[in-house]
Amino acid sequence: MKIGVDYYPEQWDRALWQTDADLMARTGVKLVRLGEFAWSRLEPKDGEFDFTWLDEAISNFSRHAMGIVLCTPTSCPPLWMYETYPDIVQVGTDGNRLQTGIRAHRCLNAPMFLYYAKRITEQLAKRYANNPAVAAWQIDNELEAYPCTCEVCRGLFRDWLIDKYDDLANINAAFGNIVWSGEYSDISQIQPPNAYPKAWQNPALCLEYSRFSADMTAKFAHDMAMIIKRENPRAKVTTNTFFSENTPDFYKLFSTLDFVSFDNYPPVKLTDEDGMSSSHAFRLDMMRGVKQKNFWVMEQLSGPTGSWMPMGPTPRPGQIKGYAMQAMAHGADTVMHFRWRTANKGAEMYWHGLIDHSNVPGRRFNEFAELCRLAPKLSVIETTELVSDVAILYSPDNDTAFRIQPQTEGFSYFEQLRYFHAAFSKYGVNVDIVSPTTDLSKYKAVIAPSMYIYDKSSAENIYRYVIKGGTVVMTARSGVKDPCNNCIMEPLPTVYREMIGAEVSEYDPIGKEEQTIVDFAGNTYKCRQWCDILELGTARAYAEYKDSFYSGKPAVTMNRYCSGVAYYIGTVCHMDFYEKFAGNIMKQTGIPRLKDLPKGVEVTTRTNGLDDYIFFFNNSEQEADIILPKAMFSIIDDTEKDKLKLKPFDMDIVRK
Ligand SMILES: [Zn+2]
Repeated sequence: MKIGVDYYPEQWDRALWQTDADLMARTGVKLVRLGEFAWSRLEPKDGEFDFTWLDEAISNFSRHAMGIVLCTPTSCPPLWMYETYPDIVQVGTDGNRLQTGIRAHRCLNAPMFLYYAKRITEQLAKRYANNPAVAAWQIDNELEAYPCTCEVCRGLFRDWLIDKYDDLANINAAFGNIVWSGEYSDISQIQPPNAYPKAWQNPALCLEYSRFSADMTAKFAHDMAMIIKRENPRAKVTTNTFFSENTPDFYKLFSTLDFVSFDNYPPVKLTDEDGMSSSHAFRLDMMRGVKQKNFWVMEQLSGPTGSWMPMGPTPRPGQIKGYAMQAMAHGADTVMHFRWRTANKGAEMYWHGLIDHSNVPGRRFNEFAELCRLAPKLSVIETTELVSDVAILYSPDNDTAFRIQPQTEGFSYFEQLRYFHAAFSKYGVNVDIVSPTTDLSKYKAVIAPSMYIYDKSSAENIYRYVIKGGTVVMTARSGVKDPCNNCIMEPLPTVYREMIGAEVSEYDPIGKEEQTIVDFAGNTYKCRQWCDILELGTARAYAEYKDSFYSGKPAVTMNRYCSGVAYYIGTVCHMDFYEKFAGNIMKQTGIPRLKDLPKGVEVTTRTNGLDDYIFFFNNSEQEADIILPKAMFSIIDDTEKDKLKLKPFDMDIVRK
């Protein structure tokens, strides 16, 4: 396990470089990320490159045997470039060009930006791709699926649509442009979605523009990676991703990159909303699921966050070390802390690093040093990975489509995924979050929440899984839309109806109003947001509504289909329902579960096929006592234990 830091040599006096490297080496830092925003120092004038300072910075760290993660600086083009080519700046959905002086505001499709981005990447690759100190490369920073509406993007979007649909007639038909007389008679009439509220805009156009933007972002990352690979085909290339309003399509973004890396800022103040903790375990599992491989954390919480927002609280004692280890428990193999020292200049000066503005290492730094000391002990888990019995399907198309049309008050696609994730996690099992097209045959249970946008290969994949004996759980708002984001003219859940063995005769978007359902065992639960009123075909009722004109109608169904079982949850409940439901699914599918885990304790297992390592992480502010089913060897304390006592945010790892 490697622990690293993000460092910005160009922001510090040169006298500090050596003392920083000395302290890093003494602390046990193994990797340093450099060069992320340093374009203006690497190319101070058009075509005039200066790598001497970066050479020096790299050798400053590599002489201490620290590896380098080298970044391409394309998130921040120098001002001379904007001056010469003002049209490389993004244009917002309101039609106005953004102002310079910030970051990440370049248009990824602007030809002159691409010319310079390729050139600086090529220069860096030629100089460093074969440097043994360089352990990995990071493309750009936190790439989003930018909704740029500049002339270039408009043109590319039109080409992208013609490429997909052949001609305007097909686009008009696919978008339903006859509604509100929006039919295109000339290609120039195709415009990206604008600043009007989404509710006024064509949902098909909005989804296609989002797909186009995601494609362009992925293409940019791919093209830059290929430039580096040209110089060294064995170079390991990634980009650091995160969750945002314009979240990229993670599957597309990383499809041609070597590994996933993620900027991990777990919430310092834990909330317990409806029994569902604000733990970042869900996001970490999602990152592992992108390539179904272990991943890196490229930026890890190191202090109070906040630069463009009010500052958040400082990490509680235990969180610096604990949250780095939580990431490892979910598949991170390397954790890089953002950042070594807090910037004392620039917009990001309050996004705190390990060392404060004072430059006096304090409590958080000492905890980081503890983590570094522990890291060599964790080398036994380097070759391990998580193997899961449960998968939750995440679809970027569904995510985007629900952002375009949020259905009803309170309805959230992500919330449904998180409920199931939290419910299964409470029983101490590994949970994968994967693409709907991934091979599902290895899972004992697959949760497919709100499969809203029809995708042929996803639907076939789910059918194949159930036909061969799998157990699937689907939820309301499945099979609603065709691939263009138009409603399918069939009873819901349309393409999934045969497998579900029930159909929706009517639905009631009840929003924040609460109703009651009762399950087959007589347990009652509150439901909200959405009520599918179901008519049974071959399915049986698992739970029924107790309220409104559909009292007595099925709310949740279970259907045996071929060799498998398909559940359908036609409403949205609270955590108590999902917990009980997950417990039943685990019983029926033979997934082993831990009972009576203290609140906040997260359990995952990494295996190398021979040894299983169980991670117990106390993600709470209370001490936790855990009785182990048998005595096990703790690789943290090098001793055999039959019970664990974990301080807040403490972790123990035992060999099974
Ligand atoms: Zn653009």
